[in-house]
Amino acid sequence: MKVMKFGGTSVGSAERMKNVVNLVTREGNTLVVLSAMSGTTNSLITITDRIKNAETAEALRLINELENKYVNTVRELLAKEEYIKQGLTVISDIFGRLREYTGVPIGLKQEKEIVAFGEKLSTRLVALYMQETGLNSVLLDATEFMKIREDGEPDSDYIKNKITETLAANKGYDIYLTQGFICRNHLGEIDNLQRGGSDYTASLLGAAIAAEEIQIWTDIDGMHNNDPRFVENTSPVHELHFEEAAELAYFGAKILHPTCVQPAKSANIPVRLLNTMQPDANGTVIYNAKPTHTIKAIAAKDNITAIKIKSSRMLLAYGFLRKVFEIFEKHHTSIDMITTSEVGVSVTIDNECNIDAILSELSEFGSVTVDRDMVIICVVGDLEWQNRGFEAKVVDALRDVPVRMISYGGSNYNISVLVKKEDKVRSLRQLSKHLF
Ligand code: ADP
Ligand code: ASP
Ligand code: MG
Repeated sequence: MKVMKFGGTSVGSAERMKNVVNLVTREGNTLVVLSAMSGTTNSLITITDRIKNAETAEALRLINELENKYVNTVRELLAKEEYIKQGLTVISDIFGRLREYTGVPIGLKQEKEIVAFGEKLSTRLVALYMQETGLNSVLLDATEFMKIREDGEPDSDYIKNKITETLAANKGYDIYLTQGFICRNHLGEIDNLQRGGSDYTASLLGAAIAAEEIQIWTDIDGMHNNDPRFVENTSPVHELHFEEAAELAYFGAKILHPTCVQPAKSANIPVRLLNTMQPDANGTVIYNAKPTHTIKAIAAKDNITAIKIKSSRMLLAYGFLRKVFEIFEKHHTSIDMITTSEVGVSVTIDNECNIDAILSELSEFGSVTVDRDMVIICVVGDLEWQNRGFEAKVVDALRDVPVRMISYGGSNYNISVLVKKEDKVRSLRQLSKHLF
């Protein structure tokens, strides 16, 4: 069985939903994971904000606007009167439930319930369309098998047992359809896998059922060699090693959710990135690809803070780095990049929630300086240290850009540099010009 995940734009209109169903039927036996229609999750978050601010009239206006969009989608998607009627009932049910949240105080639990409506809507409508077109399909409720633990990480054993059980109880279908993104937490409440998390659902389910392949269908023909939102004339990379894809996803290549590579890599299941608008294009396949002695792609991660701790006491001292890292660990803040010298260490973080406490504890070791609004530019490829010349090319490409940190040798797959936010776009462009 293959897993096929379709993102927001791929299910963004009635026409696009029909196209998805067309693509699914080409494959035969599949587990299909759908995101919410594009724009819906953002709208639901805005609605939640209005409800929290007690702006009930505005919340209701936005709910009506969103509901109208779905009513139109149902009318375009479904043809037979009985199916249109069922589609409209799905919509009035869900929007009725959404309206019950207005005018009353809501907390995090309710926010997560609201944001889950997006994936429920898209899957219910596509399920109806599949039925109407006579496909042998069934809709499975992701909250019955997708679960995160108390630490927010997916409970892989639970997921594996439950999806196996659910598929066994629903034998004989060609197409199994389910929601991406949504899950339950350790308290049994509705929760989610964070923004963009439908990719993660697909990969977790692919690993759980030992899928033949995990396909991530989106609006572009695979992973490009640079961020197409900032750089012109980028081109798709046809093959990536799992590690290369993981680095790119983590360091800002939006096409993949940062954590989505790990489950596929552990289970050694190829991940294929494909374009719903150009289904026959090659796309990108991510697997245990052989080294190619080439640089493959560049990505950028925003909102990075660099912290430098300078201490003469570090000179010849052992245990210094341990003490520094313990402070970050204690404050649940992960470090992305590190560079060291004999008298100092610089690290980067992407989460400033606990920065005041961290800085105050670090200042006991020496002088601490902070640079905000920085960007990590990550160059990914076959960067095994014996391969000559790649690091020189990267540094040469950035000769006009002030570089705050450079990190190389941490893995065989990347060189990262830290630059100011305002230098991001020209850094990406210059790297493309020099490297490809
Ligand atoms: P979906 O809604 O299908 O999950 P996303 O918007 O999350 O789609 O991801 C696809 C988008 O990722 C593309 O439209 C593109 O703008 C962006 N993107 C950023 N970096 C890359 C890259 N290196 N290669 C391809 N797409 C990228
Ligand atoms: N709908 C969710 C989001 O917009 C999850 C996803 O699309 O992957 O973040
Ligand atoms: Mg996405």
